[in-house]
Amino acid sequence: MTPAKYSIGIGDRFGRQAKAQLEAVLEAKADGIDIVPVWNKSFREHSIIGTGPADVRKEADDAVKAKNWQGSYHVDADHINLSNVDGFIEYSDFFTLDVADFTGKAADESNIDAFIVKCSRFAGNFTIDGIEREFNVTKDQILEIADKYLYAVKEAGKIYRHIKNIKGKDNFITEVSMDETERPQNPIEMFFILAAIADENIPAQTIAPKFTGRFNKGVDYVGDVEQFEKEFNDDLAVIRFAIIEFGLPEKLKLSVHSGSDKFSIYGPINKAIKRFDTGLHLKTAGTTWLEELIGLALAEGQGLEIAKEIYRKSLEKFCELCAPYATVIDIDKSRLPTFDEVEKWDGRTFALTLRHDQACELYNPNFRQLLHVGYKVAAQMGERFLCALEKYEDSIAQNVTTNILERHIKPIFY
Ligand SMILES: [Zn+2]
Repeated sequence: MTPAKYSIGIGDRFGRQAKAQLEAVLEAKADGIDIVPVWNKSFREHSIIGTGPADVRKEADDAVKAKNWQGSYHVDADHINLSNVDGFIEYSDFFTLDVADFTGKAADESNIDAFIVKCSRFAGNFTIDGIEREFNVTKDQILEIADKYLYAVKEAGKIYRHIKNIKGKDNFITEVSMDETERPQNPIEMFFILAAIADENIPAQTIAPKFTGRFNKGVDYVGDVEQFEKEFNDDLAVIRFAIIEFGLPEKLKLSVHSGSDKFSIYGPINKAIKRFDTGLHLKTAGTTWLEELIGLALAEGQGLEIAKEIYRKSLEKFCELCAPYATVIDIDKSRLPTFDEVEKWDGRTFALTLRHDQACELYNPNFRQLLHVGYKVAAQMGERFLCALEKYEDSIAQNVTTNILERHIKPIFY
């Protein structure tokens, strides 16, 4: 199975917005931009919300039918490992193998030796088309990279073969992700990681490295945009080179686990993928749920009441909600509005404080990040929340579609 050139991972926490999300992809198609939608959900999200992989499959299939979508689409078992993949196998056709936890673990000495021997032809100087400077790599450097990543790639191989044995070789897309590691991978590290992936016979179609800078959930990129742009371009050059050098799948592309809304790097990404005429998978992180809140707030009445209640409970449960996301959020507690303040707001104020529009004076990234991780509160409301989603569907759907199309698809792919 080969993914299309452009694809977008659209997380949908509560599984109610697939049609509105697909509408954004349809509108892009009408503008001549082909993008394959991929509904991604991780084991962690499923556990918090109380859903399962079968729900995502049903949501995707239903939306595709309802919207008469003729193109391909996928259901992504996001960030899975050997311990939790089994529940996903029947319902997913895209697997994001997460081996971040295994980086830094030492592989067997014999494996490391064999890898060094294979890669020793790259010791010394070499150039990669598309990168101006010459690389000078020592055997010690290759050894260091092997020490850090070889075990993790071998683990990815185990997960891949486990899925392959059940689903059959060509019936799914494989992504290897290392984005949830502590340190970013530089282009040279990625080059040797790709060597190891090829060696392990993993037909990776997408690879998700950790990029330089901070990718906090639902807010803009924090870091040096110029440095990011340089690394991103180098990564694309490395991938192009590695495809030929190691015989990796011809359409292998980068997957950017964006955590959503990295607006300041969307421009450089757009330029780079055009420059290399290459594909891209953009994975967003469930910010559709925030559009649900915006839609509820703008509907006033009961909708706004529920949105406010979710904020109040999120404040109360601050520590519990933030803990699982500690490395990907930065909330300045002193800048969070008190509940008494929020209680007085109209729907528009709530929506503008939450909506990611940096030009808007009311926008508050702290408020946004807390609500981003506050989906557990809505999950605990159960039917009450789900009924509100239904009741205010029109107001919500508009916001969901506009957000994906205008703030993500257009800046990245147009
Ligand atoms: Zn990720």
